[in-house]
Amino acid sequence: MLVNMTKILQKSKDGKYGVVAPNICNEDSARAAIECAEENRAPVILDLIYRVNPDIPLLAKLVIEMAQRATVPVALNLDHGSTFEEAIIAVRSGFSSIMVDRSSLPYEENIKEVAALVRIAHAVGISVEAELGHVGTGSQYDADRDAGLTNPLQAKEYVERTGVDALAIAIGTAHGKYVGTPYLDFSLLSKIYNTVDVPLVLHGGSGSGDENLARATREGITKVNIGTDLFQAGIDELVTNHASLKRAHEAYLMFALGYKKKLTHYMNLFGECGKADE
Ligand SMILES: [Zn+2]
Repeated sequence: MLVNMTKILQKSKDGKYGVVAPNICNEDSARAAIECAEENRAPVILDLIYRVNPDIPLLAKLVIEMAQRATVPVALNLDHGSTFEEAIIAVRSGFSSIMVDRSSLPYEENIKEVAALVRIAHAVGISVEAELGHVGTGSQYDADRDAGLTNPLQAKEYVERTGVDALAIAIGTAHGKYVGTPYLDFSLLSKIYNTVDVPLVLHGGSGSGDENLARATREGITKVNIGTDLFQAGIDELVTNHASLKRAHEAYLMFALGYKKKLTHYMNLFGECGKADE
């Protein structure tokens, strides 16, 4: 069933387990993610970023139909919505959640733009995730790891003034592949967790290390975004077995096999298997 993201995250926050938010980019990856969630009886949040598939209205139709047929809770979330127009297109396309990323704007502007979209989204029952501090890219990790870490007291004020349902925080992860060794600040996570009431989100899960991620979900993170690792696992499976393929459509199935294996790994790691039925 298609659900609002808050419904999934409030439950995971109360139950102290994490939920994977796999990035999807098309029908095949969406199907793989939902099948994987059903096989593991786990809730799932599908993260779709405009940049990788700008025809969001069309893909949303397919994904929403798949979500409605699913026997586990599925949320469809716009990942890193970066303009007002993108957010409204996602709302109109039937997403059950949007991320409004204004983390590169000055604080007051960030609040103003996010609060305006929260009002619109909440009017039609859609949840909103926003980011405070800034999660950068792994390719520049050593240079800017500490540049955008989230301030706990500011985070509390930010959530109150914007009305967001979930907050993405910067505690040392980065998007994409790391150049350097990821170092997560767990004492900062603890401070934010004890200060902020809404579910917390970790971006840049790929390559952050199983031990780090499992600990993060035990100590307050409820949603972990994973993209790079899943797509890489799909490509690796395809490359390894390409010689045995006879037809083109088998390539998609092979990709899905690798993607699902890796997604299952993370669902187990975060303790969410079986939680769809509780
Ligand atoms: Zn992100």
